[in-house]
Amino acid sequence: MNAPADAPPQERSEKDILNGLQEKVSASRLSLFLQCRLKFYFRYVLRLTKPKTPSLHVGNSVHAVLKKWNKARWLQTPLSLKQAHDAYTEAWADTSEGKPVWDPGEEETEKTTGWRLVDTYLRESHVPPDLKPDAVEVPVEADLARHGLPRLIGILDLVQRRQIIDYKTSATTPNSEKVAHTTEIQTTSYSVLYRHNTGDQESGVALHHLVKLKNPKVVITTMPPMTSRQETRLFHQMEAYLAGLQRQDFIPSPGMQCVACEFFNECRKWH
Ligand code: SF4
Repeated sequence: MNAPADAPPQERSEKDILNGLQEKVSASRLSLFLQCRLKFYFRYVLRLTKPKTPSLHVGNSVHAVLKKWNKARWLQTPLSLKQAHDAYTEAWADTSEGKPVWDPGEEETEKTTGWRLVDTYLRESHVPPDLKPDAVEVPVEADLARHGLPRLIGILDLVQRRQIIDYKTSATTPNSEKVAHTTEIQTTSYSVLYRHNTGDQESGVALHHLVKLKNPKVVITTMPPMTSRQETRLFHQMEAYLAGLQRQDFIPSPGMQCVACEFFNECRKWH
């Protein structure tokens, strides 16, 4: 019998959630699982929610206006700087994904910081307004069942001349060698997704870091196409993810990352 239309949605059981997580995985889920399985458990299995952080709100607002900017380029109706600013103001006001708790005066400062990042990026023409992108903000999947792995899912921010471009906001200037290593799960996942969906090889991956300094700057890190060694590493990481979920292996991994962990208090009570 079907549930009445006005019946409250049924809570999914932990077993159903775990099954779903074994069917599909994104780079961010996989990275979090490998960073700390208990944090993964709090966020994706128990689905504990925490207030949005100010830096996440800045990052989301910047990301939203760059998405609009690139979509307009794709439609070949580029935005003016004024339209981009309006889009930023609108994105900033959007608290549908949570509202940060601001200290007095903090919101205006952060809002200005975010806009200065966008303004710097657009004025420096890191994405020429008249160049039509290959794809903007496109959700993609790769069926990896023949490797005994979950489906890989993700959203490509921007693809231009077969180069996969991902946006990041950062408080510090990234080191290109380190950032290529620390983002490897994400960049390799994007390459796998790109190849599965186009049948073509990407020309490379570029990370566009918008750095929140007193004088904002843009740092672009370019990487060559994915190697077969990187693909193998990713597939082994996905195997470890799958095996860990099957064993329900959700142990804490205390380390430097705990300083910024929103589940610190829950973690201290874990036994
Ligand atoms: S505090 Fe550290 S060990 Fe605990 S859940 Fe967070 S990241 Fe993991």
